[in-house]
Amino acid sequence: MTTANTILELEAVTKAYAGPAGSTPVLKGVDLAVEAGETVAIVGPSGCGKSTLLNMAGTLDQPDGGRVTFRGKSLPGMTPKEAARFRNNEIGFVFQLHHLLPQCSVLENVLVPTLVHTGGEDAPERARQLLDRVGLSDRLDYRPGQLSGGERQRVAVARALINRPALLLADEPTGSLSPEGAMDLTRLMIALNREDALTLVVVTHSQEVAAHMGRVVELRDGVLRPRETRP
Ligand code: ADP
Repeated sequence: MTTANTILELEAVTKAYAGPAGSTPVLKGVDLAVEAGETVAIVGPSGCGKSTLLNMAGTLDQPDGGRVTFRGKSLPGMTPKEAARFRNNEIGFVFQLHHLLPQCSVLENVLVPTLVHTGGEDAPERARQLLDRVGLSDRLDYRPGQLSGGERQRVAVARALINRPALLLADEPTGSLSPEGAMDLTRLMIALNREDALTLVVVTHSQEVAAHMGRVVELRDGVLRPRETRP
């Protein structure tokens, strides 16, 4: 159900991929409405289409059918340039692999999204504040190779937030971390939700990460359902 507070909505979203045996449907009519300030986990078996779904939600890919809207604005109608600008300003992404630039410092990595469209004169100060927020104020000049896996993901979170997005989409953000690192990152994301009103949509195979989210939906056989709670 959508309300005036709905930030992201997918309606009857379909997607198929061409393979050797013809076209294989992956998403068969996905419906999802996310309220501003919500935390949502998307779970489901490997290969069921979770990343495909998140990419549609973030305009990284276009659905074959259905609609994706962000605060009531339809996304598939945008030109690639409009979509890129929208993405850069409104949505933060965190992936399983951090995709940090190895030759750049932590601070420079966080500033990368501000290079596409000007981040304003306060961008370096904001990057420092964000790195402080994720507990890395003493690592500004380090290179990614000098950090632990958990620290790198924290840098990736700071980078995702530099343009002040309202929505963070995370695809297996803890997938390459130790159990302790996974819990640290999850706690950080939840704190950002509670204290900074960041809306979170997290694809995860971790029951523990999912358990920290306000709502869990399961992608299975191409459609999303609320996850049944086990007795
Ligand atoms: P999950 O994130 O749940 O593991 P994915 O969304 O990555 O699943 O993939 C869903 C299915 O779509 C898989 O069978 C995968 O092989 C296929 N797939 C994903 N991306 C492509 C692509 N670009 N071309 C063809 N098939 C793809």
